[in-house]
Amino acid sequence: MSLALITHPVFASHEVPGGHPEAGSRITATTEALSNLRAPDLTEIQAPRATREQLDRVHAPAYVDAVFDSAPADGLIALDPETTMGPHSLEAAVRAAGAVCHGVDLVLAGDARHVFCLVRPPGHHAAAANSAGFCIFNNVAVGAAHALTKDAIERVAILDFDVHHGDGTESMVREDSRILMCSTYQHPLYPGTNLPSVPGSQVNVPLPAGTDGSTFQTAVTQRWLPELEAFAPQLVLISAGFDAHAADPLGQLGLTESDFAWVTSRAIEIAERHAQGRLVSVLEGGYNLEALSASVLAHVAALRVRR
Ligand SMILES: [Zn+2]
Repeated sequence: MSLALITHPVFASHEVPGGHPEAGSRITATTEALSNLRAPDLTEIQAPRATREQLDRVHAPAYVDAVFDSAPADGLIALDPETTMGPHSLEAAVRAAGAVCHGVDLVLAGDARHVFCLVRPPGHHAAAANSAGFCIFNNVAVGAAHALTKDAIERVAILDFDVHHGDGTESMVREDSRILMCSTYQHPLYPGTNLPSVPGSQVNVPLPAGTDGSTFQTAVTQRWLPELEAFAPQLVLISAGFDAHAADPLGQLGLTESDFAWVTSRAIEIAERHAQGRLVSVLEGGYNLEALSASVLAHVAALRVRR
C-alpha cells in the first residue's frame, strides 16, 4: 500500500463541552470527505492503543497515571482550562498516540510509504507532565520517540504548520539533537511561546496575523528546507494542523488548501531524498469543518502522489 489512513471511530466520541471547537464533528466531517475519494490505494487501518511504555517515553509516568485515573465513567472532567475528558476520551487519547506509533511501524516495515493519522484529541500542546490546549498526550512526540528506538532511525524531522506554536512538542524535543522540529505559527497567538531557533534542532518561524500563502511558502523555503536538507532526516513526521486556513475561526493567517498541498509536497521531497520516502502525518488543529475537510483532502491527495 502506498498510503495508509489510520483512524478509529472513538476519535469522534472524545467528549468536549457543547460549542467547543475541538469537537467530534471534525472527525465525522473529514471521514465523510475522505470516504468520497474511494481511492484504491488508500488503505484504512484501525488505530491501535499506544502501550504504556510508548507513552512513558515522553510523558512523566505520574502524569500518565493521573490521566488514566482521571477518566470519568460519565460526565466531563477538566484536565486544564481548555482540555476535558469524558467517558471515551482516554480511549481516544491512547489510540491517537498509538496511531502514530503504528504509522511509524508501517513505513519502517515498508508496508506503507506515507501514513495519515486522522485522530483526536490533537497532541502538540501536551508537555511531559501536563495537558494543554485540547491536547492530552503528545501524539507526534510519542511517535518520534518510538521511531528512535529502531536501529534504522537516528534522525527524525517534525514539521508543524498548525497556526498555534507546538510548544509541548518543542519542550520535549528542543534539547534532543536526534530530532529537528520545524515550525511555522501565528505570533502572537495562543500559546504565546516564541523561543529563538536552535540551528540543527529547532526552527521557529513566527508569522504575523494576516500572513498569506506566498509569504508562508517563502518562509518554509528559506527557513525550513535548508535545515532539513542539512539534517537529512531518516523519517519525516508532520503535525498537520489546518487552522492556519484563512477560514479558520481560531487563527488569523491566510493559508488555503493549496498551501497545505504545497508544503506536503515539500515534505515528501525531503522524505524521498533522505528517508526512503518514509512520512507519517498526524492531524492537529483545524476548526472550520468545510476548510478542514478541504485541507485534509488536499493533504491526502498530495500524499497519494507516486514518486
Ligand atoms: Zn492549532
